[in-house]
Amino acid sequence: MTAGAVPRYIGRFAPSPTGPLHAGSLVAALASRLDALAHHGHWLVRIEDLDPPREVAGASLKILEQLRAHGFEPDGEVVFQSTRHARYEAAFEQLRAMGAIYPCSCTRREIADSLRVHGAARERHDELVYPGTCRQGMAAGRTARAWRVRVADTVIDWYDRGRRTWFHEALSDRVGDFVLHRADGLWAYQLAVVVDDHQQAVTDVVRGDDLIGSTARQIYLQQLLGMPRPGYLHVPVVTDRQGEKLSKQTGAQALDAASALDSLEKALSHLGLPETGAPNLELFWSGAVQRWRESHWMGAAPA
Ligand code: GLU
Repeated sequence: MTAGAVPRYIGRFAPSPTGPLHAGSLVAALASRLDALAHHGHWLVRIEDLDPPREVAGASLKILEQLRAHGFEPDGEVVFQSTRHARYEAAFEQLRAMGAIYPCSCTRREIADSLRVHGAARERHDELVYPGTCRQGMAAGRTARAWRVRVADTVIDWYDRGRRTWFHEALSDRVGDFVLHRADGLWAYQLAVVVDDHQQAVTDVVRGDDLIGSTARQIYLQQLLGMPRPGYLHVPVVTDRQGEKLSKQTGAQALDAASALDSLEKALSHLGLPETGAPNLELFWSGAVQRWRESHWMGAAPA
């Protein structure tokens, strides 16, 4: 590529440092990098260290070391969200100036109770559909805990390139006004991810389908902030025998550099692609890109 030219494809892998990489996170990392390589694009790494209480000491460095040991090479500096508060603040202020957000005094308990009283116990994936209690202002004497974005009564239509499927989501029905600045003072993932994907000029988001429920919210924020929409592709997450997403909480083993090739082949199989049988990492990567390129994952943009 010529110096200074902006690649037409920029992808990323955005792990949260809640623990070292395991077989599940490797699948998302592999899919995102294969898609970038198959498109002759760039692949970036962003460490989503915005939630200190959930962070495990040393996990960020460990993740970067594990990526290297598995042959992942980012095309640019690794970005750490913990250094980017000013950017989230700026987007937040932009939304505030537009009147798109409002302070909310509700506790989770109050939201749950209010939903029960109205006979509309709507909870999806542990998420309560916010009933709009503070939308017109907080009750007298209450103090702001979180800030929420007002969700318009519209449907977000978005296309998943992997599934070759359109999603039609009414945010007001699915989540309601959602949190951008949390009661514990932290920026919400939804805001940070949108700001960073835009600032890093990401054109294609490839990630696990545990995040499929977040996509419409992210597109909504992009629309409010006047940002272009990247393409989305969600790949199946790895589950344990109980059908739970593999995670540190469910006892996932950290990836070991000594079995890098084997772990990569397994991750490739999980993506439905035949193993490469390569004797080393270099040949694994070239064989895997070839397989990805010829697979259904390369589905074109929607008609
Ligand atoms: N940091 C998120 C996670 O580890 C992923 C964010 C994303 O890919 O959008 O689950």
